[in-house]
Amino acid sequence: MNKAERVMLIRQVLNEMYADAYCELYHTNNLELVIAVLLSAQTTDAAVNKLTAKLFLKYKTLEDYLSVSLSELESDLKTIGLYKNKAKSIQGLCTLLKDRYQGIVPSTRKDLESLPGVGRKTANVVLSVAFNIPAFAVDTHVERVSKRLALAKPQDSVLQVEKKLMRSFKRDEWNHLHHQFIFFGRYHCKAIRPECPSCPVINICKEKNKTI
Ligand code: SF4
Repeated sequence: MNKAERVMLIRQVLNEMYADAYCELYHTNNLELVIAVLLSAQTTDAAVNKLTAKLFLKYKTLEDYLSVSLSELESDLKTIGLYKNKAKSIQGLCTLLKDRYQGIVPSTRKDLESLPGVGRKTANVVLSVAFNIPAFAVDTHVERVSKRLALAKPQDSVLQVEKKLMRSFKRDEWNHLHHQFIFFGRYHCKAIRPECPSCPVINICKEKNKTI
């Protein structure tokens, strides 16, 4: 099977398995989305959702995050990893949003990446989910699946994976495919004990330790 055929098969399988894939991070506005994505670094979406279900009841505006001490915010985040860094980033991010962006989450990569705690992956998620701007955010699931399915090489960096995915798929497919790759990696092609015996793309998979 050549590359174009493999890409077509992957697209078809993902559309059959996860037609309704979506952003599973709970949020009701763009500020909550940025904060939820920031909190999700090296943490599961489930753990973030458990935290934000309470957090977003207490903190509804930028000012709410800025009106408490850093130690109080840290204490409110302490159920997740890296909570001290994340609390600091959230207060820095809220300060910058207030001072430079009139309290509104910006819609360009450059502006988003100028915010504390917001790197390329977070910016990609915000661009695609909040503003429907094509972007292909590569998280741990997208990276693993891309490498197992030979869309990227094992030694590729996250940025190289992102660029290869953007070249492999059409621009207007990136946003939905990003969620489909995450669903495939989270529920089927899991890091440990993937569902290989029932996998519809087993014939093109490069994973050496398939569970068959
Ligand atoms: Fe993932 Fe296994 Fe399918 Fe390969 S065969 S893509 S490792 S579930």
